[in-house]
Amino acid sequence: MPKVTVNLKLLEVSANALALIYAACRQCYSEQFAGDIFDQIKDDPVKQAAFIKKIISSGHESPLEHVKFTFAIQGVSRALTHQLVRHRLASYSQQSQRYVKEKDFDYIIPPAIEQNNLALDEFKKIMDLIQKSYSKLSLLLAGDGKSGEIANQDVRFVLPQAAETKIIVTMNCRELIHFFKQRCCTRAQWEIRHLAQMMLEVCQKNLPAVFSEAGAKCMALGFCPEGEKFCCGKFAPRGVEKNK
Ligand SMILES: Cc1cc2nc3c(=O)[nH]c(=O)nc-3n(C[C@H](O)[C@H](O)[C@H](O)COP(=O)(O)OP(=O)(O)OC[C@H]3O[C@@H](n4cnc5c(N)ncnc54)[C@H](O)[C@@H]3O)c2cc1C
Repeated sequence: MPKVTVNLKLLEVSANALALIYAACRQCYSEQFAGDIFDQIKDDPVKQAAFIKKIISSGHESPLEHVKFTFAIQGVSRALTHQLVRHRLASYSQQSQRYVKEKDFDYIIPPAIEQNNLALDEFKKIMDLIQKSYSKLSLLLAGDGKSGEIANQDVRFVLPQAAETKIIVTMNCRELIHFFKQRCCTRAQWEIRHLAQMMLEVCQKNLPAVFSEAGAKCMALGFCPEGEKFCCGKFAPRGVEKNK
C-alpha cells in the first residue's frame, strides 16, 4: 500500500477557445452573425484577449461557459473527491469501488500526520488493518457465494476517506473561475486547495486572457470576505481599509 501523491493531466480544452469566447461576447453586442465573426477573427488572438478581459472585468461571464477543460486526476483521496463533486456545474466520471476491487489500496497521507512520527505510525497501522479486514470480508462473502461487484459494494464500507481514487472532471471556464474562488482560498482544505492551485496553473497557461486574474475570491474582491478571524493576511478583511 504505497503512499501516493496527486497527478493532474489536462485531457482536453475546447478547440479555438479564445475565438469561441470572443465570438460569443461579440454576438451579444453585434449586428453581425457570430458564425461570420468567428471566421473573421480566428487569427487575431491579441484583439480577442483584450476584448475578453474587458468583458470579464465588467462581470459578463456567460460567454465563458462555451469553453471547457477536461482533467484526469489520480492520487487524491475520497475525502477530496467528496468535496470536488459538490461543484454541481461540472461533469464527473470516477473510478468505482464496486467494479474495481481494492486488492492493495493506495492512500493519501495528510502532511500534518506525515510530519509526526507517532501519528504516521498510527495512520499506517490502521490503513494496514483496514486492508486486512477488507480482504478478510471479501473472503467471507465469497464463502456465501458473493463475489465481484456484489461483494465489493458491501466490503468497501470499511475503506477510509484516505483511500486513493481517480476521477475525470470537466468544467467550463465560468465554473472553473468560481471553483478557484472557493478552493484556492486558504480556508479550503489543504488537499483540494493544492489540486485547485494545480488546475489554476494549467488554465492560466492555456488561456491567460480568461484566467490571469483568477484565484481565491479575495483576488477579485480586493479584500477578504472571511472576516478577521479567518483572514490569511493576503488582503485585509472586509471593512478594514489598509492591507495588513
Ligand atoms: C472552505 C469551505 C468550507 C465548506 N464547508 C462545508 C461544510 O461544512 N458543509 C457542507 O455541506 N459544505 C461545505 N462546503 C461546500 C460548499 O457549501 C459548496 O457546496 C461547494 O463549495 C460548492 O459550491 P457552490 O454551491 O457555490 O458551487 P457550484 O455547485 O459549483 O455552483 C456554482 C454556482 O451556481 C449556482 N448554483 C448551482 N446550483 C444552484 C442551485 N441549486 N440553486 C441556486 N444556485 C445554484 C450558485 O451561484 C453556485 O455558487 C465548503 C466549501 C468551502 C470552500
